[in-house]
Amino acid sequence: MKKSSEKLINKKAQKSFVKSSDFSEINPNPMVEIDFSGKIYYINPAAKKLFPNLSSLKMKHPYLKDINSIRINFKKGKKKYFDREIKVNDLWFHQNFSFLKNIQRIQIFGFYISERKKVEEKLKESERILNKTQEIAHLGTWELKFGSNRPYWSDETYRMYGYKPGKFNLRNSDFINVIHPEDRKMVSNAYFDSIKKNKYNYSCMFRIIKKTGEIRTLYEKCEHIRDESGKIVRSIGMVQDVTERKYMERALEEAKRYLENLFDYANAPIAVWNPILNITKFNHAFEKMTGYKEKEVIGKRLEILFPPESKTEIFKKIKNITTGGCWEAVEIPIRQKDGKVKIVLWNSANIYGKDGKSLISTIAQGQDITERKNLDQRKDEFITIAGHELRTPISAIKITNQMLQDMLKDNPKALKYLNRIENQATIQANLINDLLNVSKIQTGKLEIRKENFDLQNLVEETAEDMQQITKEHKIIVKGKICGKIFADKERIGQILVNFCSNAIKFSPKGKKIIINLKNNQKEAIVGVTDYGIGIPKEHHDRIFDRFYRAYGTGDKQYPGLGMGLYISYQIIKLFDGNMWFKSTPGKGSTFYFSLPFQAQN
Ligand code: ADP
Repeated sequence: MKKSSEKLINKKAQKSFVKSSDFSEINPNPMVEIDFSGKIYYINPAAKKLFPNLSSLKMKHPYLKDINSIRINFKKGKKKYFDREIKVNDLWFHQNFSFLKNIQRIQIFGFYISERKKVEEKLKESERILNKTQEIAHLGTWELKFGSNRPYWSDETYRMYGYKPGKFNLRNSDFINVIHPEDRKMVSNAYFDSIKKNKYNYSCMFRIIKKTGEIRTLYEKCEHIRDESGKIVRSIGMVQDVTERKYMERALEEAKRYLENLFDYANAPIAVWNPILNITKFNHAFEKMTGYKEKEVIGKRLEILFPPESKTEIFKKIKNITTGGCWEAVEIPIRQKDGKVKIVLWNSANIYGKDGKSLISTIAQGQDITERKNLDQRKDEFITIAGHELRTPISAIKITNQMLQDMLKDNPKALKYLNRIENQATIQANLINDLLNVSKIQTGKLEIRKENFDLQNLVEETAEDMQQITKEHKIIVKGKICGKIFADKERIGQILVNFCSNAIKFSPKGKKIIINLKNNQKEAIVGVTDYGIGIPKEHHDRIFDRFYRAYGTGDKQYPGLGMGLYISYQIIKLFDGNMWFKSTPGKGSTFYFSLPFQAQN
């Protein structure tokens, strides 16, 4: 009974196969039939065309690759059907294996799927690109079907949460666990509230704690997608790690707050104005200095602060700022609300736009020097009066001394002492002169005369005079100056004396002092070189400052008050000249000045 029924099934199967083979002949897809030994029973015309050597290669043909394991599974009765995708000579096929138990054969239906594969490949490629883009932009995405508990996360979202892409089998609750306990409620409320309130989107910022314990801040934005009836079907989210940005924002905010405090409560008065000179900011110290409240001056023209009599001069100084300059210790008077005038020393800085050219604001910091100025003025007045008072007895001493020298010219011993008195009186007189000159320079009252004179002659005369006061040094004049100078001969002589006496004083072991003369078309240059102690580099910047000395005041070996170079420098500036020096400690110094051959006017 069993055998006969098997036969029947066999017959039916063969019949059905024969029947199907009509279709097989015209089927554009490949069809192959084999048995367990690998014997091929049927290859349809489409398969023959696609794989001409299939019947000769048999199991070795790539279309039948790995067919052994499939056969074994069928034989053991483990499977009846089997599907796979296979690439043969750059073409993709989907193979469908069915086991025909009754005839113990395997039928392989192939479907040409290269086109679909190409689309799939492209899709995969764009997915790869999208993943990479998200990775680069540190931007993750997620998707959740409405009512589902298992969201989809993009690779970057996994990374953001501290997991390997795809490693973490997600449920919503797992995701909530990664969120900082303090932010969990807020995050889940954000999602559920937006759904409850039928919102289209929501965004929130929250912290997560990674497995490593690291806390990061994420920003999330979610959009709900609806079906035609308006029901939410899924939600798409975008996540971004904003930890660094938050940190920067906080740091910037703090810095801003700090700067604002610094601005508001700084001891120094600070004001800010725009390019059309409207005051835009004003700190407490400025309020205190001017007597104006910030709100009284904001938006007003800067002019409100200028004494009317100084306006023209101040506008000239402002022009320097608007044309790209800045104020460095520039003295500008300020008129207070009550009309009193204060003398203020200003430093300013310009703030430019992104292009680095367009002026946006000027910020200026002032220092009220009214008191100091008054004090200086009183000091200068005192020096002037005291100077004059001192000069009179010194002149008397000098005259009397000269009379005594005449009377005692045959008494060498007495002459020696009188000479000493004469020298000391000269030192005193020079000192008083210097003090008077400094105070005159300070008050702008240094009198100068202008005349045409021969600088070369003046240098030679001065060199001769200076040679009288030193036996240890030989003063040599080198070079020539062609042309006359139009300046104050006496004051220029004073500079030469100062250069030479410094050269003598600061080269106790030096033998030579060389005065070098030269000129070009525009100017005459004089340089006085000594081979003395030189000046250490750290003092170079300040050597022309008032009362500045490299060795300090009170130095016994090199006495002085640091006024000579200051006076000389101020004088040379009055004649549009220049002054500079070169100096090497232990080797010596050269001090130069230049004076222009200017038109006589
Ligand atoms: P004083 O000579 O009274 O100190 P000056 O103003 O003439 O004042 O000089 C200022 C300082 O410059 C001096 O104290 C000294 O430190 C330095 N200086 C000037 N000339 C020389 C020089 N030729 N060699 C070394 N140092 C010098």
